[in-house]
Amino acid sequence: MIAEFARRVMEWYERNKRVLPWRLGMGDEWVTALTAILLRKTRAEAVAKHYQRIVGALSTPQRALELGVEGIEELLRPLGLHRTRARQIYSLARAWGSGGRLPGLGPYALSLIDCLHRRRLVPVVDVNTARVVGRFFGVGGERVAELLGEAVREAGTCELNLALMDLAARVCRARRPRCGECPLGDLCSYAAASRRPSS
Ligand code: SF4
Repeated sequence: MIAEFARRVMEWYERNKRVLPWRLGMGDEWVTALTAILLRKTRAEAVAKHYQRIVGALSTPQRALELGVEGIEELLRPLGLHRTRARQIYSLARAWGSGGRLPGLGPYALSLIDCLHRRRLVPVVDVNTARVVGRFFGVGGERVAELLGEAVREAGTCELNLALMDLAARVCRARRPRCGECPLGDLCSYAAASRRPSS
């Protein structure tokens, strides 16, 4: 089942992947960390609208330090959550390259860096990847990350994570998932349960 899940998701992705600015050049690890902070609690399309301007101004930790918390806040204001994010980005810039703990980066951001820059076959768990895996396999909690990890290894590429993010945005939406258009529809636990007549 895992193999079929991974195969279908990657096949769908080849035809339907989103063109998002942070996927074009892939940037460096700093830019990926910054992107993860921008994507927190924010839709990819909203981040995409402001992305070039923000990343242009914060292209290195040094530039973030030069701007200072208030300067970063101004830059992020149109995107929202600017106070919190500005503090996180500034603290991260101060710690960057120190070899110590990197504040503001959780498991999602760290695994995204592992995936994109070190080509490690790791699961990148966020609400989106977790939603598809959770619904498809009918699981929750730690089992989601385990199954996602297995699927990534089965696919042989950590791009499976990106594929699931796109599938979650376009098909397996939080509300009203489009199971009829989903490449996983006939095998999915959630879709099967919703087809069952309620008693
Ligand atoms: S069949 Fe429906 S619930 Fe299952 S993964 Fe696809 S969209 Fe999500």
